[in-house]
Amino acid sequence: METDCIFCKIAAGQLGTEFLYESDEIVAFRDIHPKAPTHILIIPRRHIPKITDLQEPDEKLVGRMVTVANILAEKEGLKERGFRLIFNCGRDSGQEVFHIHLHLLGGRPFHWPPG
Ligand code: AMP
Repeated sequence: METDCIFCKIAAGQLGTEFLYESDEIVAFRDIHPKAPTHILIIPRRHIPKITDLQEPDEKLVGRMVTVANILAEKEGLKERGFRLIFNCGRDSGQEVFHIHLHLLGGRPFHWPPG
């Protein structure tokens, strides 16, 4: 755990955040500044700063994050209408929190290409 990482603190339960999903490896919670009617963040409990820090043994973890996104999308009623999954990585993407997180966004139409 990185003591100055907000998402490590959330994953450790230190901020009292409500989890929509939790396991030994992963937690999911609502984004504090939602960009859509549904905006959920799916994160590993382990501190991994950026997508480019992932190693081959992490493939299963990232796959499980996508599975959790599917589970939550269905619970949010998004399975049929669709949704968007996003990993921001690095400066050009606008990544603000350097602990990897998968954004699950839904409940409205999205533009393509993104801004
Ligand atoms: P990114 O730009 O991909 O790094 O996205 C970081 C996201 O984390 C933003 O959408 C923020 O609104 C969200 N965020 C930051 N702090 C918190 C927090 N304490 N609880 C929930 N979401 C947060």
